[in-house]
Amino acid sequence: MGEQYKELIGKLNPKYLKLNEPLSLHTTVGIGGPADIWYEAQSTEEFIEAINLARKLEIPVTILGRGSNVLISDSGIRGLVLKNGSKNIVIGSEVSVKETEELEKEVTKIEARWASDSEKGTFKYEFKDLDYDELDSPRIEVKIDSGVDMAFAINFLINKGITGLQWYARIPGNLGGWIYNNVHGGTHFINELIKSVDVLTENGAVITLKVSDLNFGYDVSRFHNSNEIILSATLNLYKGDKEKAKYVAIEWAKRKSIQPHRSLGSVFKNISIEDQKRLGYPTNGIGYIVEHVIKLSGYRVGDAGISKAHHNFIENLGNASAKDYLQVIKTIQQKVQVEIGLKLHPEIFLIGFKPSEIEDIL
Ligand SMILES: Cc1cc2nc3c(=O)[nH]c(=O)nc-3n(C[C@H](O)[C@H](O)[C@H](O)COP(=O)(O)OP(=O)(O)OC[C@H]3O[C@@H](n4cnc5c(N)ncnc54)[C@H](O)[C@@H]3O)c2cc1C
Repeated sequence: MGEQYKELIGKLNPKYLKLNEPLSLHTTVGIGGPADIWYEAQSTEEFIEAINLARKLEIPVTILGRGSNVLISDSGIRGLVLKNGSKNIVIGSEVSVKETEELEKEVTKIEARWASDSEKGTFKYEFKDLDYDELDSPRIEVKIDSGVDMAFAINFLINKGITGLQWYARIPGNLGGWIYNNVHGGTHFINELIKSVDVLTENGAVITLKVSDLNFGYDVSRFHNSNEIILSATLNLYKGDKEKAKYVAIEWAKRKSIQPHRSLGSVFKNISIEDQKRLGYPTNGIGYIVEHVIKLSGYRVGDAGISKAHHNFIENLGNASAKDYLQVIKTIQQKVQVEIGLKLHPEIFLIGFKPSEIEDIL
């Protein structure tokens, strides 16, 4: 171990530091080799200090949230892998109507990722009956640290009469991970609720970015192309109907529970609506293509298998390796390429792999 590593280890709180920590313990899918140094900072200040120090020592830094959207290689991740363990939720003041109108103008409207359509019967669960908008309710500011587990936040806030997050029930993740990829629940995207985000820049400064600076889109944000680290965000939530929101969160979570949790969510981005129309498919979802077009239901490599409950999910059925998981991804991509001439793009992030292992996937 080099001198730089020793210096970093010596300066971090030993209680929250582990060497060669298996990252399979920190991902929902239960896959991932060791991190050289694993650290769970207990406050935003500790989080910032650890990142700035590692960067100064030229040690690579990787941030993990709940690990529900990352496939980590079997050889793990070199350098420092850290998680923000700071969990503050601060309820602020009501937002004036004028300010709400200004903010609404800045929200990027993104086309929903999929529509509920029970008539065509292509979805494993429906949500249309649960959808409503709360735009007439007063808005309230809530500042949430990037390390907050959002399942906890949804529950905590609804119990206080603060709504708006009910569409995201049962989606795993911390606020940082949710913002990074603009998480979507049904027809809603988290960018609709964001006012601003506090970030740590590459140069070690803390700055606040407005929602209009964040380049939100379908499965994308500014953070894919910047080395900024999300510290916290101010959300504009609603003082809405508490009982209705609670009902939706519980019902939504119940319907979503058919999705296998030892997974990474949807593996591929849906095809475009133009391609869907050209091919004459009833949906642009990848689950439909995998189940009905390339007919790979039940396909597995080792313990990594395509889920029968949702054919765009690959689950860990036992002791799957990243190599197995990648092979399932490659097989789906190759079959789709050969049979319908389309390149599928992963929605998940691949970390710790050699370029040669993943260049044909990306
Ligand atoms: C069963 C299941 C169901 C799912 N359903 C949905 C769904 O309905 N909709 C949906 O959109 N997604 C869904 N997902 C995918 C996943 O939950 C989301 O993408 C979520 O936003 C990931 O958050 P995370 O904290 O786990 O991020 P991680 O997987 O830990 O990280 C994802 C990326 O964000 C980066 N990151 C994390 N925190 C920070 C930070 N503070 N600063 C900078 N970068 C950071 C990481 O480096 C990584 O590149 C599902 C996943 C599972 C397993």
